[in-house]
Amino acid sequence: MKKFADVILPLPLPRCFTYSLPEEWADEVQIGCRVVVPFGRKKYYTAIVRNVHYFEPEEYEVKEVSILLDARPILLPEQFKFWEWLADYYLCTQGDVYKAALPSGLKLESETMVEYNPDFESEVRLPEREQKILDLLSAEPEQCVTKLEKDSGIKNILSVIKSLLDKEAIFVKEELRRTYKPKTETRVRLVDAVRNEKRLQELFDELARAPKQLDLLMKYIELSGILGGDGLKSFPKEVTKKELLLRADASPAVFNGLVDKHVFEVYQQEVGRLSAVVRETLPVNPLNEHQQLAHDEIVQSFQSKNVCLLHGVTASGKTEIYIHLIEETIRQGKQVLYLLPEIALTTQITERLQRVFGDRLGIYHSKFPDAERVEIWQKQLSEKGYDIILGVRSSIFLPFRNLGLVIVDEEHENTYKQQDPAPRYHARNAAIILAAMYGAKTLLGTATPSIETWNNATSGKYGLVELKERYKEIQLPEIIPVDIYELHRKKRMNGPFSPLLLQYIHEALDQKEQVILFQNRRGFAPMIECHTCGWVPKCKNCDVSLTFHKGLNQLTCHYCGYTYQLPRKCPACEGTDLRNRGFGTEKIEDDIKILFPEATVARMDLDTTRTRSAYERIIADFEQGKTDILIGTQMVSKGLDFDHVSVVGILNADTMLNYPDFRSYERAFQLMAQVSGRAGRKNKRGRVILQTKSIDHPIISQVIRNDFEQMVAGQLAERQMFHYPPYYRLVYVYLKNRNEQLLDLMAYTMAGKLRAVFGNRVLGPDKPPVARIQTLFIRKIIVKIEYNAPMARARELLVQVQKEMVAEDRFKSLIVYYDVDPM
Ligand code: ADP
Ligand code: ZN
Ligand code: ZN
Repeated sequence: MKKFADVILPLPLPRCFTYSLPEEWADEVQIGCRVVVPFGRKKYYTAIVRNVHYFEPEEYEVKEVSILLDARPILLPEQFKFWEWLADYYLCTQGDVYKAALPSGLKLESETMVEYNPDFESEVRLPEREQKILDLLSAEPEQCVTKLEKDSGIKNILSVIKSLLDKEAIFVKEELRRTYKPKTETRVRLVDAVRNEKRLQELFDELARAPKQLDLLMKYIELSGILGGDGLKSFPKEVTKKELLLRADASPAVFNGLVDKHVFEVYQQEVGRLSAVVRETLPVNPLNEHQQLAHDEIVQSFQSKNVCLLHGVTASGKTEIYIHLIEETIRQGKQVLYLLPEIALTTQITERLQRVFGDRLGIYHSKFPDAERVEIWQKQLSEKGYDIILGVRSSIFLPFRNLGLVIVDEEHENTYKQQDPAPRYHARNAAIILAAMYGAKTLLGTATPSIETWNNATSGKYGLVELKERYKEIQLPEIIPVDIYELHRKKRMNGPFSPLLLQYIHEALDQKEQVILFQNRRGFAPMIECHTCGWVPKCKNCDVSLTFHKGLNQLTCHYCGYTYQLPRKCPACEGTDLRNRGFGTEKIEDDIKILFPEATVARMDLDTTRTRSAYERIIADFEQGKTDILIGTQMVSKGLDFDHVSVVGILNADTMLNYPDFRSYERAFQLMAQVSGRAGRKNKRGRVILQTKSIDHPIISQVIRNDFEQMVAGQLAERQMFHYPPYYRLVYVYLKNRNEQLLDLMAYTMAGKLRAVFGNRVLGPDKPPVARIQTLFIRKIIVKIEYNAPMARARELLVQVQKEMVAEDRFKSLIVYYDVDPM
């Protein structure tokens, strides 16, 4: 009987598509395998088999699956369930989830590539059509099917490709190997004839006249340990050519001399990219009394609840508690997923975890080369995956065989929310669901819980464990507010620095202590302005002013990345008095270097951390005291652990407080409390200078008193009054179009439809703060849904309205999507 497969395509399609399976290998196709299928007129995609069955669809003519890529599934059943939940909850398609979930080395994005096999020789004449393809490929050995189809003019090209594939004249899977190639290293060994003591002795004599070669040989013997106490070993240690040359300080010419003399031979060994450090592991640190208590309470809470919040002040040693819980979980034979909000943090935590768990730890994040991510994925599929995966939000998509515990560190961080593209998921919330699917527990840890989580913990839905003492029992830092409005008026500010901050920096440097300066804006100046006429340069694609980056001497749009030359004259009035407005981290760095010429200064923001090693270097230098002053954006606020920071400067609290969003006060509190928490962690009480123009703002005094509970109480009262989370669920509707008038019509129409179903809980349409990005105008509608309303029904209605909108002919050009639980 003919078999069919339902597949998930990497496209925003509302459902699976069905394809027929060629009889020859229909039985080899398993759920979770990848296949290549034709879709649309010309394209081929890598799809994932969701189901195999015998029912031929009636509503459309099925096409045939072209190629089967896997002998075994690359997705586990739990993952399908998880994908379905994500697509359903976040109102997107499984295709969207698929695109986000798989490392790109495992998917052929939109087109199948074929590659010429240079070793291919045919004994017989090939059919004309096949020869044509081969000719095209020999001119350009790697091409996508669509292009071949066009260039060759061959109609049903897939059958030709398949035939060539069967003859091994071409590769298709090579695309995978192209992005994912196993890594090899060159190793050295003695050729067989030399592998006996007598011959070696002779060699030593012979090489007396070639001392460099003799040295190199001796180095090899030392490194490989081949000459043990009881004679020649048959299994010496493996030695890489690179290490040998390095350790012997020898040149490749010397090495080649020994190869020519048939002493050494080289061979290639495939090595995992991940097998990095197999260091001696250390036992876990014993917990102190407070930590032990908190640990026991967490274990206790997991008896009755699936989720527990660990609310522990900064430097209370939450990470050490996690380490104990991890150890206990893997001792039961289960796996742990440890989520971090930001790559910047992984460096330090990785080191701490590796010290205890060695190579049982796998690390997964987007700055890793794709090949490494593929290897981690494959290892997770194997019987024995990693015991612990440490990663940023995308690691929730990895396969797990036996998940027992999920830790979400710094659970309040909004970087856990994916903004664009879909799926717009919140990794903390999704992780809780994922854990539940495995019957695993979730621990949320932070010094400044999100209001949603706090509400869940105090209402009894989650367990709540508090840790109020720092590990070294040092007091939390003293926070000293400085009224910069007043200082500006009296002209006593030195650029962005108050006299008190400068004094404290001096004192810290004198005592060989370190300083962190926090400014939540990167670049040199957030804005340039013509002093004569007030003209401000704006992005041509987006409705925002441009940020000046001095190092590059250009203006940049932080929304679309477009860069402009800084004009010498104002294009409006031809005036030449163009002035910087505001301070970004780059300007702070410039100014600090002038004020403290003897200090070593580093900057950590998006511009200085494009690569993984850049992060690592900045953090390591600061850890080792090579840097005195670290300047940064919110990146420096996140969970970093330094021993010698005595002063933290918050340069301008007001940009955070004035941000137009209902979460801005909560965020401002979290950021300030977190960055303050970097001070005085180990040695003595730290000091924080908090510069603000809003000295009487309630959030400022809550930060000073570290009064988290009062902040939450105030915010909850407002949220309840104005119908915001956690009392109401929010769904933002974004509509985008190039034509602003048409967009307004679309937005009003959609708002009307939504009001018809959700009543007056629908706000807008409005212009968001940035109302045009990348030449698309944007409108936003807010839908508020009572917390206890049946969500399944609400989701159905939302999907229905969206369908109606895009079905209208006049709205064909509309881009519309939902953002569920927006941040
Ligand atoms: P948090 O995550 O709560 O901010 P950390 O786990 O980073 O705190 O702990 C702060 C510092 O105290 C770290 O340098 C850590 O190594 C140290 N520390 C915490 N608990 C212990 C312990 N039980 N034994 C040894 N050192 C500890
Ligand atoms: Zn001007
Ligand atoms: Zn722009």
